Amino acid sequence: MTVKVDTVWRNARIATMESGAAPYGEINGGTIVAEDGKIVWVGADQEVPAFSADKITDLDGRWVTPGLIDCHTHLVYGGNRAREFEQRLNGATYEEISNAGGGIVSTVKATRDATDHELCQQSLIRLDDFLGEGVTTIEIKSGYGLNTETETRMLRVAGSLGDLRNVRIQRTFLGAHALPPEADGDKNAYIDSVCNDQLPAIAVEGLADAVDVFCDQIGFTYDQTQRVFDAAKIYNLPVKLHAEQLSDLSGAALAADYNALSADHLEFLSETSIVKMAAAGTIAVLLPGAFYFLRDTNVPPIDLLRRHGVPMAVATDCNPGSSPLTSILLAMNMACTLFHLTPVEALSGVTRIAAKALGLSDITGTITVGKACDLAVWNIEHPSELSYAMGQNPLYYRIAGGLSDQPKL
Ligand SMILES: [Zn+2]
Repeated sequence: MTVKVDTVWRNARIATMESGAAPYGEINGGTIVAEDGKIVWVGADQEVPAFSADKITDLDGRWVTPGLIDCHTHLVYGGNRAREFEQRLNGATYEEISNAGGGIVSTVKATRDATDHELCQQSLIRLDDFLGEGVTTIEIKSGYGLNTETETRMLRVAGSLGDLRNVRIQRTFLGAHALPPEADGDKNAYIDSVCNDQLPAIAVEGLADAVDVFCDQIGFTYDQTQRVFDAAKIYNLPVKLHAEQLSDLSGAALAADYNALSADHLEFLSETSIVKMAAAGTIAVLLPGAFYFLRDTNVPPIDLLRRHGVPMAVATDCNPGSSPLTSILLAMNMACTLFHLTPVEALSGVTRIAAKALGLSDITGTITVGKACDLAVWNIEHPSELSYAMGQNPLYYRIAGGLSDQPKL
């Protein structure tokens, strides 16, 4: 009997990115079959069962990878910080910039002042850059509202982007990102409002899939982070953490204690914390764009992460202050050049491992029967080209939930 399906893509070189399979999980001369947005068959062309498909596409030997996943962005914000960038290169100090109203506070003000429509339009421009490079899932954090009204608004806007484009949006509440100007330096009182006002409002509306904190000397302490994690537990929300970017506060170990999905940045990560992350299954998210933009010199301990078997994801950290980066392919290149990841580690880091960092392993991240049909089709001769090139975009087209974008030439 012939099974009726929606779509068949044949004559492809498939990098399934399944773990355990040979580096890229390669199938040469392969077919992918989708029904109702999901993958229902994948394998060699000559072994395809009898399907009657609405649409059959010959990919002429092109490479197909899982749709790419950016598991750490701050994509929704108002304004930008280009003037500040210019001032700094003209010799202004951080203090001078801060006194002139610059820094994160300027983004908070621009975000609070923007209408929903303006926030949405500005964010869509950035989102389209990601989709143009094969991204089918993207995480977006709040954290430039720093009060209930604007934090909830940011997350609503983030959600609305998923109605305007065919992409999966995962939302993370990051109220504990920075101290708003009206807090007058009282971090503990602000954390009270994060736990008792902002988070309950967000949970009640179902606006977040996870909760994050910026744990650092210029952010929040270990104890303050713990209080936010305890509050997240009440609402059954998984946690993630900006940890060990500028100093070692043992944030990653704390994250592991709370079975965090991921600990992110990790330039100053200790081996003790790595051991805890390995035991808890907490993913290490590497953010080479911020490392590059801030001219950081402390490379995350990649060899130790490998040795202890902590899976590494790669993300852009797209944000106006420390990583104005909207290219996941460039993030892959930087992970290889700056952090010495291998191209297969970089591609795993934006597919299978990135899905894990978002708790989406059952849904996306590899080309596997039962998962969403999220794919990227490339004009390349080998997947290493995705990490190798700088500023090239070899995407042919993107397939998200079984639906294809228009192919490029
Ligand atoms: Zn970040």
